[in-house]
Amino acid sequence: MNGFGLDHLPYGVFSVAGGPRRVGVRFDDDEGSWVVDLHGETGRPEFAESSLNTFMALGPEVWRQTRDEVRALIEGGCEPLPLEEVTLHLPVEVADYVDFYASLDHASNVGKIFRPDSEPLTPNWRHLPIGYHGRAGTVVVSGTPVTRPSGQRKAPDEATPTYGPSRRLDIEAELGFVVGAPSELGSSVPVTGLADHVFGVTGLNDWSARDIQAWEYVPLGPFLGKSFATSVSPWVTPLAALDAAWVDLPGQDPEPLPYLGPGATRGLDIDIEVELNGEVVSRPPYRSMYWSPAQMLAHLTVNGASLRTGDLFASGTVSGPEPGQRGSFLELCWGGQEPLPGGRTFLEDGDQVVLRYSAPGTGGGRITLGEVTGRVETARH
Ligand code: CA
Repeated sequence: MNGFGLDHLPYGVFSVAGGPRRVGVRFDDDEGSWVVDLHGETGRPEFAESSLNTFMALGPEVWRQTRDEVRALIEGGCEPLPLEEVTLHLPVEVADYVDFYASLDHASNVGKIFRPDSEPLTPNWRHLPIGYHGRAGTVVVSGTPVTRPSGQRKAPDEATPTYGPSRRLDIEAELGFVVGAPSELGSSVPVTGLADHVFGVTGLNDWSARDIQAWEYVPLGPFLGKSFATSVSPWVTPLAALDAAWVDLPGQDPEPLPYLGPGATRGLDIDIEVELNGEVVSRPPYRSMYWSPAQMLAHLTVNGASLRTGDLFASGTVSGPEPGQRGSFLELCWGGQEPLPGGRTFLEDGDQVVLRYSAPGTGGGRITLGEVTGRVETARH
């Protein structure tokens, strides 16, 4: 079934032969891969839209009912479209995009690489899920080419910055969480509120230009080294499809403040594969993260910032404790000092990166989240 059986049923946006965009659901069976045209099958207006937003805004009760309805449609013999006949589009009109930094192993590795003479973790790291507001308008669907960004770069041994194409283009293998139900300005979402607001999960590649980032990031954090492109899966996996994937994360010390738990340290047992030009170079495990999705959401809203339908928040690079589990080339080649087999450090023009994700499904097997692909194109200026 290829990970897209009836226990998965992810949502996306498709069109056929240049026609209007519609909301659909993917499933595979012995005959092939299919997309159910939800507007065609149900007539519901929220599915005649060019994003999932109108549907997602209806809230968890409608999401649950719809999931049952879709399963019944498929089992009842609706007429789905062959996947190869549709074009897939960005599934969500992204409202705000926030990127966290929730992997202890990733944050420690980056600290050691960027600040070799200091403590790898900043003093706040174990007290709050660090994040920054990213650029929603450059979130693109899997398959969209990624143009190598240009900008100011300054290596530590250079006296002054220069302008030009990034020489340290990288990926960050992450998981993205898509908000469906909004929250009220001035209120906060409790650490128990994840399933009340989050519609689903998507794969996410936070393309990163390390040389631009290293020069610009102090003191206000990531800016142009990140904002040129962020790729997401064409399919959003509903939270309900991950019911069997929840696991306890490794643990937190010290105990976080009450609004961040305790007891909110459940994460997802999602395996990630990072593939470069057809070869797997890393297998980051999401279950090794330090901060949980519920804690990230609680922290994101603790100041009263409201959620909007279409908000996207990402985990930060997923890296495990082993060298073969690092979710960025920065870590895999240790800042360029330890090239991969074949001499590779950062991305070259023409490189194709594919992120694959799988998790335990509720049916006893595994589900496969929508993959995230992108090919690097030559800088334009
Ligand atoms: Ca990131």
